[in-house]
Amino acid sequence: MKNNHLDSNVPSGRRSFMRNLLFGAFSASLSSAKLISQQEKQGARLKKGEMFYRRLGRTDLLISEISLGGSPLPAKPILYQAIERGVNYIDTSHSYMNGNSERQIGQLLKDMGRDKIHVGTKFHLRGKWSEESIISSVEGSLRRLDTDYLDVLLIHGASDEKHLTDERVLGAFEKFKKQGKYRFRGLSCHSNHHKVVKEAVECGLYDMVQLGYNVFDIRNTKKEIETYDDYLGQSGIRRLLALAKSNDVGIIAQKTLKVGGKRQNLEKYRTGTTSIFQAMLKWVLENKNLTSALTEMLTYEQLEEDLAVAGKVLSEKERVNLFHFVVENSENYCHMCGLCEINCPSHVKTTSILRYLAYYEDYKKTNLAKQAYSRLKPSEGPHSCQNCGDCERLCPYGVSIRERLKEAHSILRT
Ligand code: SF4
Ligand code: SF4
Repeated sequence: MKNNHLDSNVPSGRRSFMRNLLFGAFSASLSSAKLISQQEKQGARLKKGEMFYRRLGRTDLLISEISLGGSPLPAKPILYQAIERGVNYIDTSHSYMNGNSERQIGQLLKDMGRDKIHVGTKFHLRGKWSEESIISSVEGSLRRLDTDYLDVLLIHGASDEKHLTDERVLGAFEKFKKQGKYRFRGLSCHSNHHKVVKEAVECGLYDMVQLGYNVFDIRNTKKEIETYDDYLGQSGIRRLLALAKSNDVGIIAQKTLKVGGKRQNLEKYRTGTTSIFQAMLKWVLENKNLTSALTEMLTYEQLEEDLAVAGKVLSEKERVNLFHFVVENSENYCHMCGLCEINCPSHVKTTSILRYLAYYEDYKKTNLAKQAYSRLKPSEGPHSCQNCGDCERLCPYGVSIRERLKEAHSILRT
């Protein structure tokens, strides 16, 4: 399914924004679509003001290299400044901040102009979900966002590749498409990437994917530091990004800083004026197969820190410091590959539980972590573990999964 919406289906305000953007940076003698195509082939970034933009695959949306995660959103003045300074994509969900993320974005759309911001929101497939439950969730999102349409409608945290072509999901997507309530179809993926993203690309029904991608995709092997691009055999994250690119499916990177909004003091990894967080973002953005890095900019310092990265190249000195940081901090880091969960004979939701633990430990999102943990069925929790050890034998990162499950239970049970 191919979409060429840049000119034909875009409201006139956005069209003029796009044209200004393009024409400000390049020759006015070429049409927008042709221009994007030519620049894209050369892997170019388009610049306006201090921000750089890249094309989001076949959506033809031009997305700022730094985009904004909506869980949580920053305070209003920071949020508005981010948009004024060129951030033009916000990722949200019906579940973020109990719906307040969408409400605040709705106000932002009114105040700043609907055509200035691309919004992606998501629906879950959990519990006893159905086409009706998806429709009800998305209608709630449209109401809270107070908008007629979404730029991207995404499945939230797709973990089963079969869901992508499930008739209930496709039925809901089709209904909304006929009503013009979204422009592009996508999904976010926290686990089982190797199957889910591959299916999303190959089934041809999805225009973009949000995928965790961060500097911990480098590892230290036999005391040599090397890029870890194939930890899932034929389906490493980098290979998934390349697969998406070759099929013109857009990728937005999430979990880019691993640490979420609460940034620790990591001054010792600073390279001159470049903080370790800036180096992490530069590392993500040097991959030309993706469009944008989602971050949470909760303070003015974080806003400045992240916006300063757009268009910048990682220096070799910064890269070396980044490697040292990863080597010293990657032990026991779960990459959410999903191998343990898929293969657990007791069907314990290992990957999900480790993710909730990361919400608690790295992101300091205690409520989110506890709520997510409380939604597990008893049969999916640590008590169902038979102690067979298969998960740990399979884990490419040597995560002490059973130990972590116990920690999760003692911390997250309510
Ligand atoms: S040790 Fe427990 S969690 Fe791990 S695979 Fe075996 S039953 Fe599943
Ligand atoms: S614990 Fe290991 S196997 Fe399980 S999801 Fe994380 S990295 Fe993959």
